Amino acid sequence: MSFAALTRLQQGLAALKDDHLERHRRILDGAQGAHATIDGQRVISFCSNDYLGLAADPALVAAAHTAVDQCGVGAGAAHLITGHHRFHDDFEAAFARFVGKPAALLFSTGYMANLGVLTALAGKKGEVFADKLNHASLVDAAQLSGASFTRYRHNDLAQLEGQLVASTAQDKLIVSDLVFSMDGDIAPVDALLDLAERYDAWLYLDDAHGFGVLGDGRGGMTERARASDRVIYLATLGKAAGVSGAAVVAHQSVIDWLMQKARPYIYTTASPPLLAACLLESLRQIEAGDVRRERLRSHITQMRAGLSDLKLGTLMPSYTPIQPLLIGANEEAVRLSQALLERGLLVPAIRTPTVPAGTARLRITLSAAHSTDDVARLIEALHALA
Ligand SMILES: *Cc1c(COP(=O)(O)O)cnc(C)c1O
Repeated sequence: MSFAALTRLQQGLAALKDDHLERHRRILDGAQGAHATIDGQRVISFCSNDYLGLAADPALVAAAHTAVDQCGVGAGAAHLITGHHRFHDDFEAAFARFVGKPAALLFSTGYMANLGVLTALAGKKGEVFADKLNHASLVDAAQLSGASFTRYRHNDLAQLEGQLVASTAQDKLIVSDLVFSMDGDIAPVDALLDLAERYDAWLYLDDAHGFGVLGDGRGGMTERARASDRVIYLATLGKAAGVSGAAVVAHQSVIDWLMQKARPYIYTTASPPLLAACLLESLRQIEAGDVRRERLRSHITQMRAGLSDLKLGTLMPSYTPIQPLLIGANEEAVRLSQALLERGLLVPAIRTPTVPAGTARLRITLSAAHSTDDVARLIEALHALA
Protein backbone atom coordinates (compact mmCIF):
# COMPACT_ATOMS: atom_id res chain seq x y z
CA MET A 1 0.00 0.00 0.00
CA SER A 2 1.25 3.46 -0.80
CA PHE A 3 0.25 6.88 0.49
CA ALA A 4 1.52 10.36 -0.27
CA ALA A 5 3.73 10.80 2.82
CA LEU A 6 5.46 7.47 2.14
CA THR A 7 5.92 8.30 -1.55
CA ARG A 8 7.64 11.56 -0.61
CA LEU A 9 10.12 9.66 1.55
CA GLN A 10 10.83 7.24 -1.25
CA GLN A 11 11.38 10.09 -3.71
CA GLY A 12 13.71 11.71 -1.19
CA LEU A 13 15.72 8.48 -0.86
CA ALA A 14 15.93 8.13 -4.65
CA ALA A 15 17.19 11.72 -4.95
CA LEU A 16 19.95 11.04 -2.40
CA LYS A 17 21.02 8.02 -4.41
CA ASP A 18 21.07 10.01 -7.67
CA ASP A 19 23.25 12.69 -6.05
CA HIS A 20 25.68 10.10 -4.65
CA LEU A 21 24.71 11.20 -1.15
CA GLU A 22 23.18 7.98 0.07
CA ARG A 23 24.93 6.68 3.19
CA HIS A 24 25.59 3.06 4.02
CA ARG A 25 26.64 1.28 7.18
CA ARG A 26 29.53 -1.13 7.11
CA ILE A 27 29.55 -4.10 9.46
CA LEU A 28 32.50 -4.47 11.80
CA ASP A 29 33.30 -7.94 13.13
CA GLY A 30 35.53 -8.31 16.15
CA ALA A 31 37.43 -5.40 17.66
CA GLN A 32 37.85 -1.86 16.38
CA GLY A 33 41.44 -1.12 15.44
CA ALA A 34 43.96 -0.12 12.79
CA HIS A 35 43.48 -3.59 11.30
CA ALA A 36 39.85 -4.64 11.31
CA THR A 37 37.34 -6.93 9.60
CA ILE A 38 34.78 -4.76 7.89
CA ASP A 39 32.03 -6.16 5.67
CA GLY A 40 33.87 -9.46 5.85
CA GLN A 41 37.09 -8.00 4.44
CA ARG A 42 40.34 -7.67 6.38
CA VAL A 43 41.38 -4.01 5.95
CA ILE A 44 43.78 -1.43 7.24
CA SER A 45 41.35 1.11 8.60
CA PHE A 46 42.04 4.84 8.25
CA CYS A 47 38.69 5.97 9.51
CA SER A 48 38.26 5.32 13.19
CA ASN A 49 38.66 7.98 15.87
CA ASP A 50 40.50 5.48 18.06
CA TYR A 51 43.59 7.68 17.79
CA LEU A 52 45.58 5.99 20.54
CA GLY A 53 44.49 2.41 19.89
CA LEU A 54 42.74 2.18 23.27
CA ALA A 55 39.34 0.86 22.10
CA ALA A 56 40.47 -2.76 22.43
CA ASP A 57 43.45 -2.23 24.74
CA PRO A 58 43.98 -5.22 27.08
CA ALA A 59 44.12 -3.01 30.19
CA LEU A 60 40.74 -1.46 29.35
CA VAL A 61 39.25 -4.85 28.55
CA ALA A 62 40.50 -6.17 31.90
CA ALA A 63 38.95 -3.15 33.65
CA ALA A 64 35.63 -3.98 31.97
CA HIS A 65 35.78 -7.61 33.12
CA THR A 66 36.56 -6.64 36.70
CA ALA A 67 33.84 -4.00 36.77
CA VAL A 68 31.14 -6.16 35.24
CA ASP A 69 31.72 -8.77 37.97
CA GLN A 70 31.32 -6.08 40.62
CA CYS A 71 28.44 -4.04 39.30
CA GLY A 72 26.69 -5.91 36.52
CA VAL A 73 25.73 -4.34 33.25
CA GLY A 74 23.02 -1.70 33.51
CA ALA A 75 23.01 1.48 35.60
CA GLY A 76 19.32 0.95 36.25
CA ALA A 77 18.37 4.59 36.82
CA ALA A 78 19.20 8.17 36.00
CA HIS A 79 22.11 9.87 37.79
CA LEU A 80 19.84 11.94 40.02
CA ILE A 81 17.84 8.87 41.12
CA THR A 82 20.11 5.91 41.96
CA GLY A 83 22.10 5.43 38.75
CA HIS A 84 25.12 7.50 39.81
CA HIS A 85 27.71 4.83 40.59
CA ARG A 86 30.95 5.33 42.48
CA PHE A 87 32.80 4.61 39.20
CA HIS A 88 31.05 7.61 37.57
CA ASP A 89 31.92 9.80 40.54
CA ASP A 90 35.53 8.65 40.70
CA PHE A 91 35.95 9.24 36.98
CA GLU A 92 34.60 12.80 37.22
CA ALA A 93 37.06 13.61 40.01
CA ALA A 94 40.00 12.02 38.18
CA PHE A 95 39.11 13.69 34.90
CA ALA A 96 38.79 17.18 36.43
CA ARG A 97 42.13 16.75 38.18
CA PHE A 98 43.84 15.55 35.00
CA VAL A 99 42.47 18.27 32.73
CA GLY A 100 43.08 20.93 35.38
CA LYS A 101 39.63 22.39 36.00
CA PRO A 102 37.70 22.46 39.29
CA ALA A 103 34.85 20.06 38.50
CA ALA A 104 33.48 17.66 35.91
CA LEU A 105 30.18 16.17 34.79
CA LEU A 106 29.99 12.92 32.83
CA PHE A 107 27.38 12.68 30.07
CA SER A 108 26.47 9.54 28.13
CA THR A 109 27.60 10.96 24.76
CA GLY A 110 29.19 14.09 23.34
CA TYR A 111 26.02 14.83 21.42
CA MET A 112 24.03 14.87 24.65
CA ALA A 113 26.67 16.94 26.46
CA ASN A 114 26.47 19.61 23.76
CA LEU A 115 22.68 19.67 23.93
CA GLY A 116 22.89 19.87 27.72
CA VAL A 117 25.44 22.65 27.98
CA LEU A 118 23.97 24.95 25.35
CA THR A 119 20.38 24.58 26.51
CA ALA A 120 21.37 25.11 30.17
CA LEU A 121 23.58 28.15 29.58
CA ALA A 122 21.82 29.94 26.74
CA GLY A 123 18.08 30.28 26.96
CA LYS A 124 15.67 32.69 25.28
CA LYS A 125 17.63 35.68 26.58
CA GLY A 126 20.88 34.24 25.31
CA GLU A 127 22.88 34.37 22.12
CA VAL A 128 25.11 31.61 20.81
CA PHE A 129 28.04 32.64 18.59
CA ALA A 130 29.27 29.67 16.62
CA ASP A 131 31.95 28.88 14.07
CA LYS A 132 30.31 27.81 10.81
CA LEU A 133 32.30 24.58 10.73
CA ASN A 134 31.26 23.45 14.21
CA HIS A 135 30.10 19.87 14.67
CA ALA A 136 26.45 19.12 13.86
CA SER A 137 25.66 18.43 17.52
CA LEU A 138 26.60 22.02 18.41
CA VAL A 139 24.36 23.36 15.66
CA ASP A 140 21.46 21.25 16.89
CA ALA A 141 22.18 22.28 20.48
CA ALA A 142 22.11 25.99 19.64
CA GLN A 143 18.81 25.57 17.84
CA LEU A 144 17.29 23.58 20.69
CA SER A 145 18.39 26.17 23.25
CA GLY A 146 15.98 28.81 21.92
CA ALA A 147 18.79 31.39 22.06
CA SER A 148 19.56 33.66 19.10
CA PHE A 149 21.95 31.74 16.93
CA THR A 150 24.69 33.69 15.16
CA ARG A 151 27.33 32.00 13.06
CA TYR A 152 30.69 33.44 12.02
CA ARG A 153 32.91 32.35 9.13
CA HIS A 154 35.43 29.68 10.07
CA ASN A 155 37.91 31.19 12.57
CA ASP A 156 36.95 34.74 11.46
CA LEU A 157 37.47 36.61 14.72
CA ALA A 158 36.85 40.03 13.20
CA GLN A 159 33.39 38.94 12.14
CA LEU A 160 32.79 37.38 15.56
CA GLU A 161 33.82 40.61 17.29
CA GLY A 162 31.38 42.60 15.15
CA GLN A 163 28.62 40.23 16.16
CA LEU A 164 29.53 40.52 19.86
CA VAL A 165 29.56 44.32 19.64
CA ALA A 166 26.10 44.29 18.08
CA SER A 167 24.61 41.83 20.57
CA THR A 168 22.15 42.96 23.21
CA ALA A 169 21.76 39.47 24.67
CA GLN A 170 22.18 38.95 28.39
CA ASP A 171 23.93 35.57 28.23
CA LYS A 172 26.53 35.26 25.49
CA LEU A 173 28.14 31.96 24.66
CA ILE A 174 30.96 31.57 22.14
CA VAL A 175 31.06 28.00 20.91
CA SER A 176 33.79 26.34 18.89
CA ASP A 177 35.17 22.96 18.00
CA LEU A 178 38.71 22.96 19.35
CA VAL A 179 39.91 20.61 16.61
CA PHE A 180 37.57 20.88 13.61
CA SER A 181 36.34 17.40 12.90
CA MET A 182 36.26 17.45 9.10
CA ASP A 183 39.28 19.73 8.51
CA GLY A 184 41.63 18.80 11.35
CA ASP A 185 42.69 22.39 12.07
CA ILE A 186 42.73 23.98 15.54
CA ALA A 187 40.72 26.94 16.87
CA PRO A 188 42.58 30.08 18.06
CA VAL A 189 41.77 29.45 21.72
CA ASP A 190 43.46 32.44 23.35
CA ALA A 191 42.08 34.89 20.78
CA LEU A 192 38.59 33.51 21.39
CA LEU A 193 39.17 33.91 25.12
CA ASP A 194 40.22 37.55 24.60
CA LEU A 195 36.86 38.20 22.95
CA ALA A 196 34.97 36.28 25.63
CA GLU A 197 36.63 38.47 28.29
CA ARG A 198 36.07 41.72 26.40
CA TYR A 199 32.36 41.04 25.83
CA ASP A 200 31.54 39.10 29.00
CA ALA A 201 30.79 35.81 27.26
CA TRP A 202 31.32 32.18 28.12
CA LEU A 203 33.71 30.24 25.88
CA TYR A 204 32.68 26.63 25.25
CA LEU A 205 35.33 24.46 23.59
CA ASP A 206 34.46 21.06 22.16
CA ASP A 207 37.71 19.09 22.08
CA ALA A 208 36.30 15.80 20.82
CA HIS A 209 39.35 15.22 18.63
CA GLY A 210 42.07 16.82 20.75
CA PHE A 211 41.62 15.19 24.13
CA GLY A 212 44.12 12.38 24.64
CA VAL A 213 46.03 13.42 21.55
CA LEU A 214 47.23 17.02 21.73
CA GLY A 215 50.03 18.18 24.01
CA ASP A 216 50.53 15.87 26.97
CA GLY A 217 47.14 14.26 26.37
CA ARG A 218 45.15 16.92 28.19
CA GLY A 219 43.97 18.23 24.84
CA GLY A 220 44.08 21.53 23.02
CA MET A 221 43.29 23.97 25.83
CA THR A 222 45.93 26.61 26.47
CA GLU A 223 47.17 27.31 30.01
CA ARG A 224 45.22 30.56 30.00
CA ALA A 225 42.01 28.78 29.03
CA ARG A 226 42.64 26.16 31.69
CA ALA A 227 42.90 28.88 34.32
CA SER A 228 39.88 30.89 33.13
CA ASP A 229 36.53 30.51 34.87
CA ARG A 230 34.85 31.56 31.60
CA VAL A 231 36.05 28.50 29.76
CA ILE A 232 33.92 25.38 29.68
CA TYR A 233 35.70 22.43 28.12
CA LEU A 234 34.29 19.23 26.63
CA ALA A 235 36.16 16.03 25.91
CA THR A 236 34.30 13.20 24.25
CA LEU A 237 35.41 9.79 25.43
CA GLY A 238 34.53 7.56 22.49
CA LYS A 239 37.44 8.83 20.39
CA ALA A 240 41.02 8.85 21.69
CA ALA A 241 39.82 7.63 25.10
CA GLY A 242 38.52 4.54 23.34
CA VAL A 243 35.34 4.03 25.36
CA SER A 244 32.13 6.10 25.30
CA GLY A 245 30.68 9.19 26.92
CA ALA A 246 31.75 12.80 27.29
CA ALA A 247 32.91 14.92 30.19
CA VAL A 248 32.43 18.64 30.70
CA VAL A 249 34.85 20.45 33.00
CA ALA A 250 34.36 23.97 34.29
CA HIS A 251 34.01 26.17 37.37
CA GLN A 252 32.18 24.33 40.17
CA SER A 253 29.11 26.58 39.83
CA VAL A 254 28.81 25.79 36.12
CA ILE A 255 28.90 22.07 36.87
CA ASP A 256 26.34 22.53 39.69
CA TRP A 257 24.08 24.43 37.28
CA LEU A 258 24.39 21.75 34.58
CA MET A 259 23.47 19.07 37.08
CA GLN A 260 20.28 21.00 37.91
CA LYS A 261 19.38 22.15 34.41
CA ALA A 262 20.92 20.05 31.65
CA ARG A 263 18.00 17.93 30.51
CA PRO A 264 20.07 15.40 28.52
CA TYR A 265 21.90 14.75 31.81
CA ILE A 266 18.82 14.52 33.99
CA TYR A 267 16.23 12.70 31.91
CA THR A 268 18.22 9.69 30.79
CA THR A 269 19.50 6.47 32.30
CA ALA A 270 23.09 6.76 33.50
CA SER A 271 25.61 5.01 31.26
CA PRO A 272 26.66 1.53 32.43
CA PRO A 273 29.05 2.00 35.36
CA LEU A 274 31.46 -0.50 33.81
CA LEU A 275 32.12 2.13 31.13
CA ALA A 276 33.20 4.59 33.79
CA ALA A 277 35.53 1.91 35.20
CA CYS A 278 37.03 1.52 31.71
CA LEU A 279 37.35 5.30 31.48
CA LEU A 280 39.34 5.40 34.72
CA GLU A 281 41.80 2.95 33.15
CA SER A 282 41.75 4.88 29.88
CA LEU A 283 42.68 8.04 31.75
CA ARG A 284 45.67 6.26 33.29
CA GLN A 285 46.75 5.13 29.81
CA ILE A 286 46.33 8.64 28.38
CA GLU A 287 48.29 10.15 31.25
CA ALA A 288 51.14 7.71 30.63
CA GLY A 289 50.67 7.72 26.86
CA ASP A 290 53.60 9.74 25.55
CA VAL A 291 54.91 6.77 23.56
CA ARG A 292 51.56 6.39 21.82
CA ARG A 293 51.34 10.12 21.09
CA GLU A 294 54.91 10.16 19.75
CA ARG A 295 54.12 7.29 17.37
CA LEU A 296 50.98 9.08 16.22
CA ARG A 297 52.92 12.28 15.57
CA SER A 298 55.49 10.40 13.53
CA HIS A 299 52.69 8.86 11.39
CA ILE A 300 51.30 12.35 10.76
CA THR A 301 54.72 13.58 9.64
CA GLN A 302 55.20 10.51 7.42
CA MET A 303 51.77 10.95 5.80
CA ARG A 304 52.25 14.67 5.09
CA ALA A 305 55.73 14.15 3.65
CA GLY A 306 54.56 11.20 1.56
CA LEU A 307 51.59 13.02 0.05
CA SER A 308 53.11 16.48 -0.40
CA ASP A 309 53.56 15.96 -4.17
CA LEU A 310 50.36 13.98 -4.76
CA LYS A 311 48.54 14.85 -8.01
CA LEU A 312 45.17 13.51 -6.93
CA GLY A 313 44.17 16.09 -4.37
CA THR A 314 45.50 18.39 -1.67
CA LEU A 315 46.17 17.44 1.90
CA MET A 316 44.48 20.11 4.04
CA PRO A 317 46.67 22.03 6.52
CA SER A 318 46.37 19.92 9.65
CA TYR A 319 48.75 18.74 12.34
CA THR A 320 46.21 16.53 14.06
CA PRO A 321 45.41 12.85 13.33
CA ILE A 322 42.64 14.09 11.00
CA GLN A 323 44.33 14.40 7.59
CA PRO A 324 41.68 15.22 4.99
CA LEU A 325 42.61 14.90 1.34
CA LEU A 326 40.56 17.47 -0.56
CA ILE A 327 39.12 16.02 -3.79
CA GLY A 328 36.18 18.29 -4.72
CA ALA A 329 33.44 16.32 -6.48
CA ASN A 330 31.32 13.77 -4.60
CA GLU A 331 31.60 11.11 -7.31
CA GLU A 332 35.37 11.31 -7.57
CA ALA A 333 35.78 11.05 -3.79
CA VAL A 334 33.52 7.99 -3.74
CA ARG A 335 35.39 6.40 -6.69
CA LEU A 336 38.74 6.84 -4.93
CA SER A 337 37.40 5.49 -1.67
CA GLN A 338 36.20 2.37 -3.52
CA ALA A 339 39.51 1.94 -5.36
CA LEU A 340 41.38 2.11 -2.05
CA LEU A 341 39.05 -0.45 -0.54
CA GLU A 342 39.87 -2.85 -3.39
CA ARG A 343 43.46 -2.54 -2.17
CA GLY A 344 42.43 -3.33 1.41
CA LEU A 345 42.61 0.28 2.60
CA LEU A 346 39.51 1.76 4.22
CA VAL A 347 39.27 5.55 3.85
CA PRO A 348 35.82 7.14 3.85
CA ALA A 349 34.62 9.72 1.35
CA ILE A 350 33.04 12.64 3.21
CA ARG A 351 30.45 14.58 1.21
CA THR A 352 27.74 17.20 1.62
CA PRO A 353 25.94 17.87 3.89
CA THR A 354 28.70 16.87 6.31
CA VAL A 355 31.08 19.26 4.47
CA PRO A 356 30.29 22.22 2.13
CA ALA A 357 29.34 21.33 -1.46
CA GLY A 358 32.33 21.00 -3.81
CA THR A 359 34.71 20.10 -0.97
CA ALA A 360 34.24 16.33 -0.88
CA ARG A 361 37.26 14.71 0.65
CA LEU A 362 38.91 11.51 1.71
CA ARG A 363 39.07 11.80 5.46
CA ILE A 364 42.16 9.92 6.55
CA THR A 365 42.53 9.43 10.28
CA LEU A 366 45.68 8.05 11.80
CA SER A 367 46.16 6.05 14.97
CA ALA A 368 49.06 5.10 17.18
CA ALA A 369 47.95 1.54 16.46
CA HIS A 370 49.00 1.90 12.80
CA SER A 371 52.49 0.78 11.84
CA THR A 372 54.89 2.78 9.69
CA ASP A 373 54.25 0.15 7.03
CA ASP A 374 50.45 0.70 7.16
CA VAL A 375 50.97 4.40 6.52
CA ALA A 376 53.44 3.68 3.69
CA ARG A 377 50.89 1.42 2.02
CA LEU A 378 48.27 4.16 1.95
CA ILE A 379 50.77 6.69 0.56
CA GLU A 380 51.79 4.23 -2.20
CA ALA A 381 48.21 3.39 -3.12
CA LEU A 382 47.23 7.05 -3.44
CA HIS A 383 50.19 7.73 -5.73
CA ALA A 384 49.29 4.66 -7.79
CA LEU A 385 45.71 5.93 -8.23
CA ALA A 386 46.83 9.41 -9.32
C1 LIG B 1 32.16 13.10 17.70
C2 LIG B 1 31.88 14.51 18.08
C3 LIG B 1 30.85 14.82 18.96
C4 LIG B 1 29.87 13.79 19.46
O1 LIG B 1 30.43 12.98 20.42
P1 LIG B 1 29.78 11.55 20.69
O2 LIG B 1 30.32 11.14 22.01
O3 LIG B 1 30.24 10.68 19.57
O4 LIG B 1 28.30 11.74 20.71
C5 LIG B 1 30.72 16.13 19.37
N1 LIG B 1 31.53 17.09 18.89
C6 LIG B 1 32.50 16.83 18.00
C7 LIG B 1 33.37 17.95 17.52
C8 LIG B 1 32.71 15.53 17.56
O5 LIG B 1 33.66 15.26 16.68
